[in-house]
Amino acid sequence: MGDGYNFHHLQGEILARSRATDWETAEREWCLLSISEADEPETCLCSHFPIIELCTIANRITGIQVDVGNVCVKRFLGFRSDLIFASIKRIRNDMTRSIGADAAVLFHERGIINAWEYGFQQNTRAKRNLTGKQMETRISINRKILASLKRRGIQ
Ligand SMILES: [Zn+2]
Repeated sequence: MGDGYNFHHLQGEILARSRATDWETAEREWCLLSISEADEPETCLCSHFPIIELCTIANRITGIQVDVGNVCVKRFLGFRSDLIFASIKRIRNDMTRSIGADAAVLFHERGIINAWEYGFQQNTRAKRNLTGKQMETRISINRKILASLKRRGIQ
């Protein structure tokens, strides 16, 4: 407590949107749907403000979707979205860098990068000396990922 992230409050809000009425079961109904960046600061379900890096989580049974921040998604689902956002910052600052493995998996899973691009990403991730053509491919992959992050971009 005291850090503005009220997990107890989050639990109440999550329970209200779940089919199960006990926390142990209710938390298992939820999964990460997508990540995005807000244009304007938003409020996490735990009531923490502001959050810009958003994780949209969904209840598999009720179909309800809500946005939470990095801290809460880690606490609630154990998902390290902060690493994905760090990876995004890295490529935004330097388009010749490559995204990390966690980000590659997520964006492939969500259909943002295709199987070929995913394979390319894996094979060239650690390489600094790419051919001109390979660098073009890396940059085009990075562009796709950045474009998908616009609010409600990836689903
Ligand atoms: Zn929160």
